Amino acid sequence: MSTYKERRTEQQLREEIIRVCQLIWQRGWVAASAGNVSARLSENRVLTTPSGFSKGLLKPEQLIIVDMEGKKIPSYDAASRDLRPTSEMPLHLEVYRQRADVGAVVHAHPPISIALSIADIPLARCLLPEVVVTLGTIPFTRYATPSTPEGAAAVRELITNHDALVLRRHGTVTVGRSPLDAYFKLETVEHSAEVTLIVRQLGRSNPIAPDEVRKLIALRRQMGLALPGEEEDFCTQCGVCDLAPMR
Ligand SMILES: [Zn+2]
Repeated sequence: MSTYKERRTEQQLREEIIRVCQLIWQRGWVAASAGNVSARLSENRVLTTPSGFSKGLLKPEQLIIVDMEGKKIPSYDAASRDLRPTSEMPLHLEVYRQRADVGAVVHAHPPISIALSIADIPLARCLLPEVVVTLGTIPFTRYATPSTPEGAAAVRELITNHDALVLRRHGTVTVGRSPLDAYFKLETVEHSAEVTLIVRQLGRSNPIAPDEVRKLIALRRQMGLALPGEEEDFCTQCGVCDLAPMR
């Protein structure tokens, strides 16, 4: 895993975060002031959405900057001077601490993924080839009270070997090189949840055969998408238990 180096300017990142906020709001994947999007600016600075705003109405100048302890860097811009970091900031910071390769984090509340986590219908099974290649498996975290250190701890356990998680009864965390990259992974998660739901409604499960999953994992490795420690998930969820460990 290579360390992430930001090449875009702060202004470009502000605009990209707002674009992602509008997309998640338009898709109905956040309600009221829920959800948050952040991007790494430098080793010790993260640009993030503030607390208490609809993601559909935010402006680039309202994004705020925090350090790795979540403390706001004072702003002299009238648009962001009095705004506070989101209460879910510890969850974002935990990702940046655990994954030097990550440049952005999207946290949303997409309804079907949340519903499956409540019904305990796993999203981690190998059902869709493109999901196996791009995301590997999508696990549910254990239940944690939102906006408490429990949430960050639940993320810490799984984020080192996954790019997408479902926080049980709460929402999703997806990570990527850029805000749009993390957003597209969220699209894949919720699409996968929709398909899983429909398959269940049809009364079937029908996962991909392990021999076929093996080919998809080979493709995932060739594309440089594999994460260390993911072999165990492919074994328990998809029946492929003979993989060489990734480093
Ligand atoms: Zn949330």
